[in-house]
Amino acid sequence: MATDYDAPRKTDDDTESIQALQERVPDKMSSQVDVDDADNPGYELGGADLADVDLDVVVLPPQADEFTCVSCFLVKHRSQVDHETKLGYVCKECAA
Ligand SMILES: [Zn+2]
Repeated sequence: MATDYDAPRKTDDDTESIQALQERVPDKMSSQVDVDDADNPGYELGGADLADVDLDVVVLPPQADEFTCVSCFLVKHRSQVDHETKLGYVCKECAA
């Protein structure tokens, strides 16, 4: 007898919980799918772009006719040198 009472109660609880989940899951699933679709391509493209930019900046060393300003640390053409200090060259923009 005891099992007969317990069985229907468990079934009712399961049915209620499943119905509650079924009502909630569709909204979460749809929103998650939308977010994933929107983010995945962006991350892939962004990573590729950043890698290219980093390579361009790092690989290019100062050329023979270029110098690194000791004030702004930008690599500029020698024609932009204003004067030389103990630390190195200062560009015209920083000297102005
Ligand atoms: Zn400078």
